[in-house]
Amino acid sequence: MTKVDTTVRGPEAYGLARRVLDDMEAAGVWPTPVNFELWLHYLGDPEGALGREIRRILAAQEPFSESTSEMLASEYLPRGRLNEEIRDAGRMLDKELSTVATTIANAHKSQVEYGVTLADASGRMDAVESPETLKTLVSTLADATHKAKSQNSALEQQLEHSTREVAKLREHLEQVRRDAMTDALTNLANRKAFDEHLEGSVDAAHATGKALTLAVIDIDHFKRFNDTWGHQTGDQVLRYVASVLGRSARSPRLAARYGGEEFAMIFPDESTAAVDQALKSVLKEIASRALRRRSTNDELGAVTISAGYARLRPEETPSSLLERADAALYASKRAGRNRVTDADQLEQAA
Ligand code: GH3
Ligand code: MG
Ligand code: MG
Repeated sequence: MTKVDTTVRGPEAYGLARRVLDDMEAAGVWPTPVNFELWLHYLGDPEGALGREIRRILAAQEPFSESTSEMLASEYLPRGRLNEEIRDAGRMLDKELSTVATTIANAHKSQVEYGVTLADASGRMDAVESPETLKTLVSTLADATHKAKSQNSALEQQLEHSTREVAKLREHLEQVRRDAMTDALTNLANRKAFDEHLEGSVDAAHATGKALTLAVIDIDHFKRFNDTWGHQTGDQVLRYVASVLGRSARSPRLAARYGGEEFAMIFPDESTAAVDQALKSVLKEIASRALRRRSTNDELGAVTISAGYARLRPEETPSSLLERADAALYASKRAGRNRVTDADQLEQAA
């Protein structure tokens, strides 16, 4: 299948939509809006990360449940989601700002009116002849002052209200931004966050001349594990491995879920020895823990992980760094798994 534009406008879009529906029906997936959107992207780029994940789920005959859809959507359609939330927030902000503008205009108008009343009263002051006239004048002034005061306090209340609304909006957007950068299953940074962070770290390292090391980590024989214990237990293991990585990756380090059962860690400004040591202790911790299945308490034994790391070279791009770390990971796999390989040593040996 060729790659198609999922934002296509025009008659050919109907054909694409029909193909999406047919394909979903054949796969036994309900045509909910989220599923439709997922499928549109999937058929648009069948070999992409989303396509591979959907095919894996279908091949494993896992149920395509609502939570599966949500997970896929938050993982693979984050940009669209984020844009939608940002548009909503923009609309709310517009509304708040226009209320504030109206309130300020009204306040201004009543200030002007108050000024006119005062000027008028001071003009009439000279012509005061009797206590009666003076009384009327004073009472007019008192009324006008009272009105100005209450309009002022209405303005104050409105501004306070808007300030609160805008603060809430800002908090919500911050949450949305965090969600869009977080992997739903493991709570680690997701692929998008990782890609951005790696790019920023590589730029910073080139600019400052400081060290940067990238590690990629993959669970050993995870397919076998899934096949034996089921996908849910597999997910439990993913969360466990992620928690160990997360604990070892306090800022400025970063741990991310890079793909299905693959993780990555970024180590800014650390010696090779420190990185090697950190990865080895993560490996050791994971391999030494006897896992139990939560639902049945069955002994699962231990899982192991393999890792490879590479240190950034002058002028090296993020993708070249990733490639070298990947090569080191696969050397770890070939050498028997449950080990760490340094790309530099691998390259020297070759
Ligand atoms: P190796 O030691 O060579 O890495 O073997 P492996 O079986 O781990 O490697 P492979 O890449 O062939 O298999 C990865 C498996 O990970 C396939 C799939 O069953 C599983 N997997 C990927 N993503 C998820 C996920 O989100 N949840 C669960 N439970 N399993 C996943
Ligand atoms: Mg893998
Ligand atoms: Mg694996």
